[in-house]
Amino acid sequence: MPEEPELLLKSGRVLDPASNTDAVLDVTVRNGSILEVGASLEVPPSTEVIDLAGKWLMPGMIDTHVHVGGDLDGITDPGVGLRSVVQAGATTVIDLGGRMERLVAGIKNHGSGANVGGLGMLKPGVTLPDDDPDPYTVRETLNTALESGLLGLKMWGGYYPFSMDVTADIIAACNERQAYVAYHVGTKSSGSRLDGMRELPAILGDNARAHIAHINAYCRGSILPPAEEITEALEILESLRGQVVSEVHLARPNFTRGECDESGNVRMDVARNCLRLRDYETTRESMRKAISDDYGSVVRQSPSGLSLVTGEAGVKLFDEADSLVGMSFPVNRADTAFQLTAAKRPDGTFIIDAIASDAGVLPRNVNIEQAMNMVRFGALTPLEMAEKLSFNPARMIGLEKKGRLSVGMDADLTVIDPEKGRATMSFVAGDMIMLEGRAIGSGGTLLITEAGVSEAGKYGLESEVVDLTKSLLYAS
Ligand SMILES: [Zn+2]
Repeated sequence: MPEEPELLLKSGRVLDPASNTDAVLDVTVRNGSILEVGASLEVPPSTEVIDLAGKWLMPGMIDTHVHVGGDLDGITDPGVGLRSVVQAGATTVIDLGGRMERLVAGIKNHGSGANVGGLGMLKPGVTLPDDDPDPYTVRETLNTALESGLLGLKMWGGYYPFSMDVTADIIAACNERQAYVAYHVGTKSSGSRLDGMRELPAILGDNARAHIAHINAYCRGSILPPAEEITEALEILESLRGQVVSEVHLARPNFTRGECDESGNVRMDVARNCLRLRDYETTRESMRKAISDDYGSVVRQSPSGLSLVTGEAGVKLFDEADSLVGMSFPVNRADTAFQLTAAKRPDGTFIIDAIASDAGVLPRNVNIEQAMNMVRFGALTPLEMAEKLSFNPARMIGLEKKGRLSVGMDADLTVIDPEKGRATMSFVAGDMIMLEGRAIGSGGTLLITEAGVSEAGKYGLESEVVDLTKSLLYAS
C-alpha cells in the first residue's frame, strides 16, 4: 500500500530552482518530508488540505547571515530575533557570530520553530585572549566552538580586526577542520571597505576557502565612486571563484556600535566610516551631532524587537549608555545592492550566491520583500529569487535535504503572496511555523557538526548534524 500523505498543499506555483520547475502543482508531505509533487494529486479524505491557488511555494527561505544570539550592545534578551526571522519567512538561519549558550537560551526563550546554526565570534578579551592569537590559540578556540555545537567561526573585521597573517591563519585553521568560516572584511591594515576586499587574494592565496559577508557593505563609496567599487568587488570575487561564497543584503539601514574611547574618539571602524561619508569627524561630539541631525539612530530594545531612535531622544539614549549603544546609519545603497544581487557571469550563473539579511534582531528582515521588488522590476526571475533565497544558501551550508522542492526533501517550505510581495506562510518539517506574519512555532532544531554531538545532547533541544564537507566551500 502506498504511503498516505498527512498534508496536501494544493495548486501553488511551485518554484524549485534545482529541477528548474516553475509550474502550478500539488505537493504532499509525510513525516516531515516531501512525499510527492505533481499535478492534481489524489489524496485520502483524512488528509489536511491547504489551498495555495494564486500563491508561490518555494523551498524554505534560508538566511545565511542573521544575528539572533543577541551578542550586540544593548540587547540583553537572547533570541528575540528568532521571532523576527520566522515572521519574515525564514525556515533556517545561521547566526553569524555569537556564543552557543546565548543561542541555546534564545531558542528556548523565543524559538519559533526555525532551524538554527551558529558561528563562534572572535572577540579579543571574550573568546580570545587578545587580538594577536598564535596558531595554537586559534585552533584551540575553533575546537571549543565546534565542540559546543557551533559550525565554525566568524571574523568581524570591521570591529575586531586582526593582522592579515592572523586573519589568514584563522581561515586556514577552519579549512583544516572543514569548519565553516565567515569573514566580515577588514584587518589592522585595511577597513570594512573596498580596501578590505582588495586584501582577499593575498589572505586566501590559491587554496583557502571562506564565506565573505555582506559584499554591499564594502561598496558605499568610501574609496571610489560606488559604481567603480561594485565593479572591483565583483572582479575580486570572480578571481576567487571556487574559493569563496558570498551574500548581499537589501536593506538601507546598517548596524554598528557607538562605542567611544576615553579620549572621545569613536572606536569602531564601521561607525567611523559612516560618519566620514557625511563629513562628520570621528569623535563622540560628532556622533552626538549626527544623531541630533537624524543621520545616526540609536538602537533601542523593546519586548517585540528593536527600534531606531534619532534626534534629541537618540542623543539622550547615547549619553545614558555612555556611548555603548547599537547604532544605525542609512548608508547601504539601493543601487549597489541591486547590481550586486543581479550580477552574473557570462555563463549565466550568479557571482554572489545569496541574499541574506544581516538582520534577525535588527529591524530589517526584508529578504523576501526586497527580492520580490527585484522580481517585479524584472531583475530576477521567480526561480532566480528562490535560488538566491534558498537553493544556493542550502548549498553554502551543505544542507542536502533543504533548498529543493522535490520528493524526499525536507518539507521546509515558504509561501509567498505575490500581490502582497511577502511571505505569508511557512513550514518546517511539514509543521506550520508562520501564518500571515505571525510566528506560531516554538523551539527549534540546532544545526551542529559531528564534533558537537556530545555537548549538544545536553542542551535539551533537537539537533541535526550537518556535513560541512558538502558545503560549497569545500565541495567545489
Ligand atoms: Zn552581521
